[in-house]
Amino acid sequence: MLNNSVTELSGVGEKFSDDLALLNIHSIGDLIHYFPSRYDVFELKPLAELIHDDKATIEGKVVHEPTLQFYGKRKSRLTFTVEVEGVAIKAVMFNRAFAKKQIHPDAVVTLTGKWDAHRLQITVSNYKVGTFDNQTQIQPMYSLRGNITNIKLKKIIRQALENYSDDIPEILPKNYLASYKIPERKKAIQAMHFPPSRIALKHARRRFIFEEFLIFQLKMQLLRKKNKEATQGNAQMYDPQKVQSFIQDFPFELTNAQKKVLNEILSDMKSPYRMNRLLQGDVGSGKTAVAAIGLFASVTSGKQGALMVPTEILAEQHFESLNNLFGKQANLALLTGSVKGKRRKEILAGIEEHNIDILIGTHALIQEDVDFNDLGFVIVDEQHRFGVEQRRTLRDKGLYPDVLFMTATPIPRTLAITAFGDMDVSVIDEMPKGRREIETYWAKENMLERILRMIEKHVAQGEQAYVICPLIEESDKLDIQDAVDLYHQLVEIFPSHIQVGLMHGRLKSNEKEEVMKQFAENRIQVLVSTTVVEVGVNVPNATIMVIYDAERFGLSQLHQLRGRVGRGDKQSYCILIADPKGEVGKERMRIMTETTNGFELSEQDLKLRGPGDFFGKKQSGIPEFKVADMVHDYKALETARKDAQEIIQSNLLEGDSEYFRLKELLEKDSALTGTLD
Ligand code: ADP
Ligand code: MG
Repeated sequence: MLNNSVTELSGVGEKFSDDLALLNIHSIGDLIHYFPSRYDVFELKPLAELIHDDKATIEGKVVHEPTLQFYGKRKSRLTFTVEVEGVAIKAVMFNRAFAKKQIHPDAVVTLTGKWDAHRLQITVSNYKVGTFDNQTQIQPMYSLRGNITNIKLKKIIRQALENYSDDIPEILPKNYLASYKIPERKKAIQAMHFPPSRIALKHARRRFIFEEFLIFQLKMQLLRKKNKEATQGNAQMYDPQKVQSFIQDFPFELTNAQKKVLNEILSDMKSPYRMNRLLQGDVGSGKTAVAAIGLFASVTSGKQGALMVPTEILAEQHFESLNNLFGKQANLALLTGSVKGKRRKEILAGIEEHNIDILIGTHALIQEDVDFNDLGFVIVDEQHRFGVEQRRTLRDKGLYPDVLFMTATPIPRTLAITAFGDMDVSVIDEMPKGRREIETYWAKENMLERILRMIEKHVAQGEQAYVICPLIEESDKLDIQDAVDLYHQLVEIFPSHIQVGLMHGRLKSNEKEEVMKQFAENRIQVLVSTTVVEVGVNVPNATIMVIYDAERFGLSQLHQLRGRVGRGDKQSYCILIADPKGEVGKERMRIMTETTNGFELSEQDLKLRGPGDFFGKKQSGIPEFKVADMVHDYKALETARKDAQEIIQSNLLEGDSEYFRLKELLEKDSALTGTLD
C-alpha cells in the first residue's frame, strides 16, 4: 500500500524517517512522488565533439601508473594518462588519493569532468573503473535536507519502486494516454527517478505536466460551477431603454471592445447565475466608463451598487466623475475612512433604507458596518489579491451580488487561466481613438539638468508633470523622507512661478485631497509623489512622468505609473531615471522604451520575474506545481484547461468509471494547490 510508512522499507529507521519528514516524505506514496529537482547527464561523445570548458565524459585505457603528489594540508593531486581514440589524454584528479589503488595501467576507465580542449586534459569529478554502459546515463539529483544523501535517497526509492510499483494506479482515462501519447503512471514514475533515456524522461515529464495542470484546472472548474449553482435566482432585470439612452448621453462613442465587454457584463446580470468576472484593460482603455453603465443598469433594475477602489483619492475622483455622469438619475454616496460622525450615520442609514443607489469607497467598504438593503452589483477596482477575500466577506454577510473585478495590470493569459481560472474574463483590447502614444526615454541621473529644463518648457506651455520618488522598499518612513527632500530641492531649482506640490501616503486624507485638487486645477504644476498616485488618478493636463530609480519597479508597475500621463490629447512623455546593474534590469528599461502595450509588457514581466513575483508580492494565490512550469509549459496548460472544461461540462466525473480515480482524488483534496499527493 502506498499509504504505508516509509519505515517499512529496509534501512529506514527512525533517524532516516525523521530526515525524510523534513522533505515532507512520510508514506511510500510520498517517497515515490518525490521527483528529482534536476538531472546530471553523462554522455559518451567522440573527442572531436567535446566542447572546451564544458563537462565531458570519456572512456579510455590507462597508459601508465598514476603519479600522486601531496601539497598543502591534506591536499593531493593524482595524474595519469589515458588513451582515447589513439590520443593521449591527461587526467587530473584532486584529493582522491585512494583512487591510486584502483587505477592501474591497461585498466579501462570512464571519466567525467571539465574538458580542456587546448591541453587535451580532463579534470575529473566522477570516475569509474570499467566501460561506460550506455551511450547516455542520466543521474537523478534530488533536493536534500538533513543527513540524507543523494545515493541514500536513490537507494530507498529504488527499493520502494521494486516492492510497491504494482500499487500505483493509473488515474487518467485511457483515451488521454493514447491521444497525447503519454506513458502510463507507473512507467512514468519509474522514468522520473531512473530515466532509461532522455526521450523516456521527456515523456514522463510531459505526462506529469499534463496531469498536474488537468487536476488543477478541474479544481478551478468545479469551483466555478459551484459558485454558479449556489446563486441561482439573482437575475437583474434592468431597463434596456434607459441604459441605451444613458450611453447616448456620453460625450463619446464606445469603442468596439467596450461594447463587446458591456454585452458580456449585461448578459451576466440578466442571467440567474452570479457574475464572477474579471475585466482587464490597459490604463485609459475605458473600463470605468463600462463599469458606470453596469452600475446604472443595476440601478434601473431596482438594486443597489457598490464601487470599491484601493485608495481614498481614487474613491473621491470616481465619486466626482460618476456624479457628473449620473446627474439626477441615481443617488450616489462616498464612504471612506474620513467620512465620520453624523454624515457617516446618514449614509449608513441611506444604504440600509435604499435611499442611496450607489456607494463608492475603499476596499474596506464591505468589511465595515455597512448594511445594504438590496445589493445587486459590486465592482472591485484595481485589486490584485484576486478578490477571494472579498467574495468570502460578501458571502459571510449573506450577499450574493454580481461581482466584477477590474484591473489595469494586464494579466498574461497563462496567469489569467491559472490564478483566475474560476472566473470569466473580459478584455478591453482597444484604446479610444485619437490617443497619442506616450514617448518613453531611459535616462541616467546625470541628465537631470536636461529633464528639469524639459519640464520647465512644457509647464510654460501650460502642461504639468509628475515626479515619482525613489522607491525604498524597506521603509515607508525613508520613502517619505526622500520625497520631502526631493520636493525641497525642486522648490529651490524651479523658478517661483512653477508651483511644486508634495504627495505621500502619510498625509492626512484631507491634505491629500487638497494637493490633488490643486494639481487637477493646475495650481500645482509639478507634483512630487511616492507611488500613491499609481492607480487610477486622472489629470489629463499632465504630460510628463519622471520616475526615479525606475529599475526597482516591475514592468507592470512602471506601466501603471506611465499611464498617469497621456490621458489628454497632448503628446506625453515618460522619463525613466535608472542605472540598472544587471542585464535583466537593462532589458526591462529597453522594453519600457519600446512598447506601450500593456499585455506585451505583462508577458515580458512574467518571463523576467516569474509568476511568484508578478504581482509584486509573493504568495499571490498562484499555485506551485511539482513538474509543470506555467510559463514554459503554457501549451499543455491550454490543453488541460480545455480537457477540464469538457470533463466538467459533460459530467464525465459522475458517469464514466474511467474517471473514477480522478474524481476520488479531487474529493480527497479540495485545496487549490495544484500539487498531487
Ligand atoms: P480606465 O478606467 O480604463 O483607466 P477610463 O474609463 O477612466 O479608463 O477612461 C479614460 C478616459 O477616456 C476618460 O477620460 C474617459 O472619459 C475617456 N473615454 C472612455 N471611453 C472612451 C471612448 N470610447 N472614447 C473616447 N474617450 C473615452
Ligand atoms: Mg480606472
